[in-house]
Amino acid sequence: MVNAAPDEFLDRAQTAAEREQQDLLQLLYLCPVAIIKIDSYGTILLMNPYGVQMLMPISASGKLTNLFDLFLPFAPELGEMARRFPSRTGKICEEHRIVMPAREGLPGSAIISVTLQKVDSDIYVAVLTDVTSAAGRELYVRTSEERLHAVLDGVKDYSICTVDTHGKITSWNYAAERLDDYRSDEMMGRHIDQLVPATGTSKSPMMRRLELALRDGSHEFEGWRVRKDGKRYWGSTAIGVLRAKTDQTVIGYSVITRDLTEQRRSEDRLRVLAMTDPLTGALNRRSFFENAKRERARLNALDESFTVLLLDADFFKAVNDTHGHDAGDATLVRIVADCRQEIRSSDLLGRFGGEEFAILLPGSSLEIARRIAERIRERIALSGRESGAFPCTVSIGVTACASSDETIEETINRADAALYTAKAAGRDCVAVADPA
Ligand code: GH3
Ligand code: MG
Ligand code: MG
Repeated sequence: MVNAAPDEFLDRAQTAAEREQQDLLQLLYLCPVAIIKIDSYGTILLMNPYGVQMLMPISASGKLTNLFDLFLPFAPELGEMARRFPSRTGKICEEHRIVMPAREGLPGSAIISVTLQKVDSDIYVAVLTDVTSAAGRELYVRTSEERLHAVLDGVKDYSICTVDTHGKITSWNYAAERLDDYRSDEMMGRHIDQLVPATGTSKSPMMRRLELALRDGSHEFEGWRVRKDGKRYWGSTAIGVLRAKTDQTVIGYSVITRDLTEQRRSEDRLRVLAMTDPLTGALNRRSFFENAKRERARLNALDESFTVLLLDADFFKAVNDTHGHDAGDATLVRIVADCRQEIRSSDLLGRFGGEEFAILLPGSSLEIARRIAERIRERIALSGRESGAFPCTVSIGVTACASSDETIEETINRADAALYTAKAAGRDCVAVADPA
């Protein structure tokens, strides 16, 4: 028993070592990476089964004798790197990507990652991992990112940027550089408020919009944008909420703005066209009434009065008959221009019909209105003579708004009565209808 002890110990130690080796072999056997031991020429000394499985498809001869030779047709750098490696031991390459030739029956080429380690002067260990799916995923992410950037930069008329939850800019597209005049590198990290006019209140105007987007899922609005050069453009902006794919937490916002300045200009032009008389540029009859009603309500609220002048060209039929219709038109244009010389831009001037015009003077007394009417009459009578054209005079009826007037029409009717009086008094004169 005493002698048996060391033997038994040795036996047990041997079986433990054997078991360990067995386990190790099994591990190498099952390992889903290729582990290959080679010499400095690339001669394969030892390889696990996965290595055989991985390399067999690229072997032209069906034999696996030399690793560098196997890779020579598509990765000659592998042998080259090993040959040039100066030290006795060390890492020659780590996760070096090699695109393998397409394997039969498989779509596309496999991508393997090679780590080559020199473990002794003539012993190398290569670890090969199939990273095709990982590389595919990376490529997908990269290409979809590139594609997205290409799309964003290809968008010409939309300024597109993203901001973080604090409103700091995190991306800036090409059109934004053009529309807002800022380069991408200037805007990174800057606050989005910089792009809109200051409101004078302490609350950030854009943060309020972002909050609304968060509350409602998205938010749209129209407003001025301020470019780097200080110029403004009228933009329509849509804000979207950006959430993390994993847990849906809010990571920021997308802010997309379209320049509507041109559209707004043409809308303004249309509005002006719809409101004005095309010959003289004065308000048309409908628009004069609309504006006069609004002005009346405004002045009533302020307890202020207004006056109305009605003008009619004298013997205008004769002007047409003698000088022609075009000359008549030119005279109407001249009458309006003369009126404008005597009134403020805030006063209303409308063409009521053929050769009849109305003027509303807010906040003026009857006496002042009479004086203005007199100046207008004089100027029109004079300008025809001065311009070398033919004389043309106007008759003017003047009145003020009475507290008893329930509508603007009542006031205008009184001015019309005064105009009739002026005509009856011999024309080229002013008549006043005092509501008192
Ligand atoms: P009174 O002093 O009584 O106002 O005489 P009048 O000739 O001005 O009055 P009447 O109403 O008889 O004639 C108005 C003329 O104005 C008739 C019409 O041909 C002319 N007229 C109306 N609209 C236009 C226009 O747009 N262009 C031109 N050239 N003439 C116009
Ligand atoms: Mg007339
Ligand atoms: Mg008339």
